[in-house]
Amino acid sequence: MAEDACLSLEQRIEELERTVRTLTEQKNREELLDLPWAGNLGSWIWNVPSDTVICNDLKILNLGYAKQEIPDRIGHAFFTDLLHPDDHGPVMDQMRRHLAGTDAVYEASYRIRHKDGSWRWYYDRGKITQRDAAGKPLQLVGIVFDITKQKLMEQQLALQNELLQKLVDHDELTKVLSRAALFRFLRSTHDRCVQEDRSFALLMLDIDHFKHINDNYGHQVGDEVLVQLARLVGSRVRGADAFGRYGGEEFMMVLDGVGMQEAMQVAERIRITVADHAFTGGIRLTISGGLALFQEQGIDELVTLADNRLYEAKRSGRNKIIGPR
Ligand code: GH3
Ligand code: MG
Ligand code: MG
Repeated sequence: MAEDACLSLEQRIEELERTVRTLTEQKNREELLDLPWAGNLGSWIWNVPSDTVICNDLKILNLGYAKQEIPDRIGHAFFTDLLHPDDHGPVMDQMRRHLAGTDAVYEASYRIRHKDGSWRWYYDRGKITQRDAAGKPLQLVGIVFDITKQKLMEQQLALQNELLQKLVDHDELTKVLSRAALFRFLRSTHDRCVQEDRSFALLMLDIDHFKHINDNYGHQVGDEVLVQLARLVGSRVRGADAFGRYGGEEFMMVLDGVGMQEAMQVAERIRITVADHAFTGGIRLTISGGLALFQEQGIDELVTLADNRLYEAKRSGRNKIIGPR
């Protein structure tokens, strides 16, 4: 009985010694990783065989949990269960790739659910630090940054860029495509048609005697007429085509994948639509157009060709479209 008590005392001392050793090791590791000056930095240790995750407070506190709400022992699923559904798969893949030795480090950015239901962005990076004799991973150590603020800023910036691009791409007065956007569309259509051996058409339109409208009704009415004309013609444009303001009272249309006959029909229909329309205050007007079909020319050459034909339409009486003969 006394012997038993002694043995169990020895065992208990051994166990206590082991615990102290483990705790000291852990403490040392945590001190190594615990960088209070790093602010949003969290650290974690994952013991693979027992699936135990040890992490500093930050990783958990940032998710809105009080320390006492967290079980003494947590596994990796405590975190992975909180991952955003779109990020869960990619994060697991990243970890699998590192465990399999494909990637030298595990690295992932993901959204993780805060206790209040909102999403936090974490940037996570870790590495296998201990293996068993057979090379199987025993332990991984990692750091994690809360990058929510940066991500929000990135998103706002992307939104602002999108807005800015929209502004640049559209004419301020008429809201149709700007000259810059038209030429971008023209270049991409040109490249595609060269590659695919297809044709497209370029139509230049110019309002006839627009100066008279300004002179007779004033500049503001002139502006309103431009807006109405852009809307009228713009509403006739097919999804694959582009229509925009080339400058002043000149407009341009790029007709994708059409032959000469079809392009001419579209242009004529637009000319007639405008001639039949009553603009603000009952103003009537006509337009002239020059049509050029892409036949292996460069963009400048094509624009010049359409421009020359527009000039010809003006010279020969206006309210007409001149195309290839
Ligand atoms: P044509 O039939 O030969 O094209 O005659 P036109 O009077 O239309 O041509 P011209 O090039 O002599 O004049 C174009 C006019 O368009 C002159 C300019 O004041 C007017 N214009 C250009 N941009 C704007 C604009 O944004 N608003 C207004 N109100 N007028 C504009
Ligand atoms: Mg004009
Ligand atoms: Mg003009």
